[in-house]
Amino acid sequence: MPRVTISRRGEDRARAGHPWIYRSDVEEVDAAAGDLVQVFGSRGRPVGHALFSDESEITLRMIAYGSAAAPETFIKDRLAAAIAFREALALDATACRLVHGEADRLPSLIVDRYGDHLVIQALSQGIDRRVPEIVSALVDLLQPQGILARNDPRVRLLEGLEQRVEVLYGDVPDRVAVREGAVEYQVDPWRGQKTGLFLDQRENREAALRYARGRLLDAFSYHGGFALALAPRCESVLAVDISEDAVARIRENATRNGLGNVEARAMNVFDELRELERQGARFETIVLDPPAFAKNKASVRKAMTGYKEINLRALKLLEPGGFLVTCSCSYNVSEDMFVDVVSAAAADAGVEVSLVEKRAQGRDHPILINVPETYYLKCLILRKLA
Ligand code: SAH
Repeated sequence: MPRVTISRRGEDRARAGHPWIYRSDVEEVDAAAGDLVQVFGSRGRPVGHALFSDESEITLRMIAYGSAAAPETFIKDRLAAAIAFREALALDATACRLVHGEADRLPSLIVDRYGDHLVIQALSQGIDRRVPEIVSALVDLLQPQGILARNDPRVRLLEGLEQRVEVLYGDVPDRVAVREGAVEYQVDPWRGQKTGLFLDQRENREAALRYARGRLLDAFSYHGGFALALAPRCESVLAVDISEDAVARIRENATRNGLGNVEARAMNVFDELRELERQGARFETIVLDPPAFAKNKASVRKAMTGYKEINLRALKLLEPGGFLVTCSCSYNVSEDMFVDVVSAAAADAGVEVSLVEKRAQGRDHPILINVPETYYLKCLILRKLA
């Protein structure tokens, strides 16, 4: 079996339950791209089994710890376990994440379900090589109508893999109807952001529904995830997104769901918040769900400035007694950092705020307790007291 020897530091990391071993901790390699390898510590102790990449900075992705033999059927077994867990969640939706990479012990594999269609992303050499096995297991387990590979994320380039979108099984139309709670969407799995929808916010939309009322501002709305879920509880909804295409989808989805109180504007949120402030606009409910401002460590400072600005302006636009649902999906910004920056925004805005709920990504996107990087989505629900 192919084998890789790692440094003491790498061994400590793996023993602490972190599934990534970096190139700088790799000492000896007798393996080819995408191999399942046995991993040894520098003194020859077996550490476990991993998928090997000959290009990525993340050279090894652990799939099992200890000296036991690697289970031959790990792909199908783990897919089955991941799917069984999602079924047990009894989600009120026909779209959800079935496999969330490391957290389902299938590192760098994503599988999302949109009704009877599946969308997969294979984000490392080891998983890419096993796509035929993954597809056949998914067909056995779920009998989908079609499976699409959305292998266009840039991280594939770091693995030396090409970016490609293709049907792997059956057929996949460019409009798939799904339901989330009471809202029906038309999803484009071929071209939508991520694999079509921001599935990770489903439970935060459900939580926000407990508080939403009055005039709602949904900033960074994409296809209207929050706007449409909350509209039935609100008098009026203003959804803002910089993308014309996204705004067209919000309007289309609002009509499809018979929601007559939703207005959508194609605007830069930073400009729109300033303009609303100038006009003296006020809202009882505001949602801020920006894209990851900190895509890497170097951009964290600038990201914090961005988070501070939008939160400060939103808190000013909020009526006393109103609710702010504010999110960060940058994994480089920790929960503590995010709470700090929102607190600083409240202080600068001169408002008193209480923290009503502290939330994360939905349960179908589990967090690995030993891998802080997997807790990427933070969502605070705040109440403006005065
Ligand atoms: N809230 C959405 C997901 C938002 S994703 C949901 O629940 O589904 C982030 C969105 O922000 C994207 O649609 C992107 O087009 C938009 N965006 C990025 N920068 C922006 C800006 N400066 N102003 C307005 N929208 C922006």
